[in-house]
Amino acid sequence: MTLHQRPGDDGAAPAGPTSSAGIQKDNQLWLEDGSIILVAGQTGELFAVPQPIVSVDSLEGCPVVRVPDAAQELSHLLRYIYDGRSFIISTTGRPDFVKPTFATLSALMRLGHKYDIPEAIEDASSCLQSYYTTNFDVYKRLRQRDLVDLLFELREEDLDADAIETVNLAMLTGKHSLLPAAMYRCCQIDSDELIDGVQRPVRDARTVHLNADCIRLCRRGREHLIKACGRVLKVFGLLESPVRCGRCAPVAKQEGAGSIHDIELQLTTDPLELMYGSDALNALCSRCQTSMADHLAAQQRQIWCKLPVYLGIDDLEGVEMVAPSPLEGMDWAA
Ligand SMILES: [Zn+2]
Repeated sequence: MTLHQRPGDDGAAPAGPTSSAGIQKDNQLWLEDGSIILVAGQTGELFAVPQPIVSVDSLEGCPVVRVPDAAQELSHLLRYIYDGRSFIISTTGRPDFVKPTFATLSALMRLGHKYDIPEAIEDASSCLQSYYTTNFDVYKRLRQRDLVDLLFELREEDLDADAIETVNLAMLTGKHSLLPAAMYRCCQIDSDELIDGVQRPVRDARTVHLNADCIRLCRRGREHLIKACGRVLKVFGLLESPVRCGRCAPVAKQEGAGSIHDIELQLTTDPLELMYGSDALNALCSRCQTSMADHLAAQQRQIWCKLPVYLGIDDLEGVEMVAPSPLEGMDWAA
C-alpha cells in the first residue's frame, strides 16, 4: 500500500468519516482491507492498517489497539512506513512534492526512536541536518537567507522552539551532529526563556524545554561565545587590525576606536553574525577590504570549529565541525 497524498500545511491529518464508536477515521490511513485498528491520542482517531498486533478490543469487526501517541504524529509515522523515505525526501523529483514541516520530522524522530525504526530517525535527521549543519559554509549561506538546499519547511517564528526541540531530539536519538548549530541558536535565546521554556507561537500552545544539563551547557556556551565575540571585535579595533597600508591604517584606527567606544553594544553571544559595516569597508582600498574580510572569516571559522568545546559536547560521537577555506564568493560586508 502506498499513499501519495500529503497532509495539510499544518501537518494535520485530513478529517475522515466518523466510526460507529464516534471516533474519527483518518482519511488516508483508513484502509478498507485493513485488519487492525489503531486508536491514537485522547480524542481518538482511527487508522486501519494491515499488520497483526496483539489487540485489546474490537470495532467494526477489527481488533483495536489503543496507543497514547498523538494522532497527528502517529499518522506521520504510518505514512513514512507505507511510503518510505519519499514521504519526506523528494527521491524521484515529484512535481507535487511538498517539503516536510519541522513537526513531521520531529514526530518521525521521536516515534522512530520509541518504536525502534532507525530508518525514520536517519531520514528525518538528515532533513534536519540541512539546517542544523556542521559545515560553516552552509551555515553562513543559511544565515544570509539562502535556503535553497533546505530539506524542510522553515518557519521563522518557530526557530527558537525548533532549536530546543532539535537539541532534545539529538540527545534522544544520538544524532549529535545536530547539536552544535541547534545549541548555538539556543545560546541566542533570552536566559529566562531558556530556563522557563519557549512557547510555540503558531503550531500549538506547547512550551518546549531544555533539560537542566542542556541549559547548563548553553549557559557555559554563552560565556564562551561572548569572549569569542570580544576576540573578533579586536580585529575591528586597534590591537589586531590587519590593515597595514599607509592610506588605510588611520581610517581603520578611527573605526577601531569607534567600535571600542560602544563595545558593550557589540558584545553578543552571536560572533558568527558579526559583519563589517559597509561604510567602514568602503573607506578602505580594495586590498585592505579583502584583508579585513579574510581576517574576520578566519576568526569565525575558528569559532565554528571550537563550538563543540564551547558547548561542552566535544566528547560526543559524531560532533565534527567542517570549515572549508577560503570562502569564495561570500559577501562578508553584506
Ligand atoms: Zn589600504
